[in-house]
Amino acid sequence: MLTRTEGIVLKTQKYGEADLIVTYLSSDKGIIKAFAKSPRKTKSRFGSSLEPLTHARISLWGKEQAALPKITQADILNSFHRIREDFQDFVNISRLVEILLSVMPDGAPNKRLFAFFLNVLHTIKASERGSKDALHLITRIRLLAAIGCAPRLQSCGRCGEKSLDFYPSSGTILCNKCAAPLTQERSTLRISNNTVRFYTHTIEWPIHISNRLKPRREVLAELSDLLDKHLTYLLSKKLNSSEFLVGANRTRAGASR
Ligand SMILES: [Zn+2]
Repeated sequence: MLTRTEGIVLKTQKYGEADLIVTYLSSDKGIIKAFAKSPRKTKSRFGSSLEPLTHARISLWGKEQAALPKITQADILNSFHRIREDFQDFVNISRLVEILLSVMPDGAPNKRLFAFFLNVLHTIKASERGSKDALHLITRIRLLAAIGCAPRLQSCGRCGEKSLDFYPSSGTILCNKCAAPLTQERSTLRISNNTVRFYTHTIEWPIHISNRLKPRREVLAELSDLLDKHLTYLLSKKLNSSEFLVGANRTRAGASR
């Protein structure tokens, strides 16, 4: 059976000598894997359509329940090569991809998630050069919100009481009363009102204008730290890419000295 859909390439793995297994975020089937026959033999159009983050219209051939349908055609709609060529953009988008792949089950349709992710790629592509730390942080928060895993910072997650103590193991702000029974988990982060305000805006503003948000450096640092801890608990492991990024920054700082 031939299936047509739109997909964004999340990752590719070599398969045998010349073949590839491609993981897509598809518009109507969620995350899917498909098989590409010898795309690496030549620098073909088909080969370029399988580059990470490429948005393409794809045709897949295989039985209805086939675990690995074959890609028979892929027409590029957006190559997003600018993102691949920008080190910081690519590393940050790779983090989003890792979160997606860790949290979302394969084959769970989610049209809104596809539209959201495409919107993020367009927003990053259109953003100016220079520091995009805020934009990258916002996209991470928004992705977590889109998949229902965003930390709750507006108020205590149990009773709604005002508080500023974030409990990474619970993924939420808790007030003293609600936190009291958590005897073994004492790891908390005290956050500022400015951080809560900025966070609320990141969740509520449309993503394509979110680069107008200009948080203070302290707010960015505080929220970035909080998000790292939240993700560590969420994914039960530190994201490989955040360790990669720290390593890469260290190497770069060393090289520029
Ligand atoms: Zn409470």
